[in-house]
Amino acid sequence: MSQRILIVEDEVDLANLIEITLNNAGFVVQKFYCGQQGLEAALSGKYDLLMLDIMLPLVDGLEICRQVRLKDPLTPIMMLTARDTETDRVMGLNMGADDYLTKPFSIRELQARVSALLRRACLAQTVQEHNKDIVFADFVIEPSCHKVSYGQREIELTSTEFDLLYFLAQHPGQVFNRSQLLDSVWGYNHLGYEHTVNSHINRLRAKLEQQENLPKLVHTIWGVGYKFEYAKVS
Ligand code: CA
Repeated sequence: MSQRILIVEDEVDLANLIEITLNNAGFVVQKFYCGQQGLEAALSGKYDLLMLDIMLPLVDGLEICRQVRLKDPLTPIMMLTARDTETDRVMGLNMGADDYLTKPFSIRELQARVSALLRRACLAQTVQEHNKDIVFADFVIEPSCHKVSYGQREIELTSTEFDLLYFLAQHPGQVFNRSQLLDSVWGYNHLGYEHTVNSHINRLRAKLEQQENLPKLVHTIWGVGYKFEYAKVS
């Protein structure tokens, strides 16, 4: 069955171009120019991927993203941003999007990124079915139910945050640079998108650090990258 993609974009020409491109690539596409209608569609749970412009009439893309994430941590969300300052907002506001494209972007890049996001979502399913739990004392990652917990408490993560944590935790002590993480977790590596990694790492880390007594898990190695290490506090 064809995968379904929702586009919410008020620039009609761009929305049409994306629709044609994705139709040609075999996707079923539905598009809305208005944020309110887009929000209702996005909350319906009928789509495999959501593509959201930021500046939209009535309800903006960040708000759509935020509302979707309240009830659905897993559906991949790609933000379309008009300027770099908006990029900062997307990443800074921590709305739970998985990826973003800065306009203007090429059709090839759009296709590559959509495929990568969908592949990753599909891979996450496979990971859920086949991969083992990771356990460090009271800290447990369970791919089968997409669950991370510390003691009795569950830590709510988005799909991307989960994938990032799971990848790092599978290789404790090993340092990965941002480019390697983009390759391994996002499934693509485009120049200029490395700060996507920082943003997700920061959000993941903030969630982990909210847990009382949980040792620091995601470590920054300055000038190199990141590593997972569980050090029991004595
Ligand atoms: Ca717009």
